[in-house]
Amino acid sequence: MRIRFLGAARGVTGSMHLIEAAGKRFLLDCGLFQGRREEAAEKNRSLAVRGADLDFVILSHAHIDHAGNLPTMCKSGFRGRVHATHATADLSDVMLQDSAQIQERDVEFLRKRGRATVEPLYTAHEAAEITRRFVTHDYNQWVDLAPGLKLQFRDAGHIMGSASVNLEIREPGRETVRLTFTGDLGRPKMPILRDPAPLAPAEIVLTECTYGNRVHGEPGEEAGRQMKASLALAVKTALKQGGKLIIPAFSVGRTQNILYYLNELMEEGAFPKVKVFVDSPMSVAATEVLQRHPECFDAEMHAKLQRASDPLIASHIEMARTVEESKRINRIGGTAVIIAASGMCEFGRILHHLANHLDDPRTVVGFVGYQAEHTLGRRIVEGSRSVRIYGEDVPVRAKIVKLNGFSAHADKEELLFALRPLKPDLQHTVLIHGETDQSLPFAATLQLEGFRGVTVPAEGDELRI
Ligand SMILES: [Zn+2]
Repeated sequence: MRIRFLGAARGVTGSMHLIEAAGKRFLLDCGLFQGRREEAAEKNRSLAVRGADLDFVILSHAHIDHAGNLPTMCKSGFRGRVHATHATADLSDVMLQDSAQIQERDVEFLRKRGRATVEPLYTAHEAAEITRRFVTHDYNQWVDLAPGLKLQFRDAGHIMGSASVNLEIREPGRETVRLTFTGDLGRPKMPILRDPAPLAPAEIVLTECTYGNRVHGEPGEEAGRQMKASLALAVKTALKQGGKLIIPAFSVGRTQNILYYLNELMEEGAFPKVKVFVDSPMSVAATEVLQRHPECFDAEMHAKLQRASDPLIASHIEMARTVEESKRINRIGGTAVIIAASGMCEFGRILHHLANHLDDPRTVVGFVGYQAEHTLGRRIVEGSRSVRIYGEDVPVRAKIVKLNGFSAHADKEELLFALRPLKPDLQHTVLIHGETDQSLPFAATLQLEGFRGVTVPAEGDELRI
């Protein structure tokens, strides 16, 4: 058996691991590298393995750094199946279409600047091709992929549909080997989704370590309470000032969490009912995918549905799909909450709302997530008095607040909690999906705790078992 680490090795994007076992050659994940445009584009184009040489792909979840290069694989001759959970398949559909559109837009931008020869990595049409290749599975069910090769997904509690992947590999004349791939591990006590299920015991684990050297500071439940409290304060401020509350948010996860807490706050009477607009085609689509997959919900969410109090379709929520619906939001007077992508204000309809309302001192802008360097979101959070949007200078007179968001990734303690039960059986503890300032200290911690075969492979490294 051989494992080659093709991406998210000593880094966090481009998750892709090639496995040769039981006479098959397949991938765990097929993600996009993200980062500096030129460098990422080059890496995404030059696949280390041709699609034609693969039997199938197993997908842990729909985030673009895990699924985003599937269409490229298809273009290089991949004709196999993509195994995923039901929700991951549906969400991948939406995410890959969005990714294709972003790339087509990017190319248009570059062509206008004289780069006539650039081509998108893939088009929306090509992205649609791969979505026909999905075969979907329930959580916790064993599936025979090939003679001597079995697959099971367990809930990873990271985003809707996310899973850890368990493989049982039996080569002729040898003992069965079990491999657990964590995918991205979520945190317990997050809203809507179930907690991560315990990892399956295995001889080999490929574990993410995005926050292998960080402790979030508060448990999931407390993080939720803090977010709810800061959200309540932001709405009350907007109500007092008679302005809009604008929240830039990622389409998957954050948007639905905000809807969830706003609904709870209104039910508890924290403030009078206000209109909430979800103004991003991608966020609307992601919310609809979530609604179609109650198998991902935790007990609390099910209880809410039983009480006919679905936080995702409450009467105060309006989903703006079309441009017309989006424009109509501008004509609404008084206080309303507007949730729109992108989360770092780089593109999407959030730009229109910021352009229209940033100069109004009655406006409140609430940031939920981390704002990367060189993004519009970062400039606003850092207190710029004026920002450029669509080529115009817009003075910032709005009140800028940070809503306590929370990470969808387990921290060091939560990772250890998940991995410790596997220790007695583990022969190979392989750390992937982490920058070296996270993965190397985490490797040291695991070694101290007595984990066997701890390695932090670099891109292109191979593990033979
Ligand atoms: Zn992820």
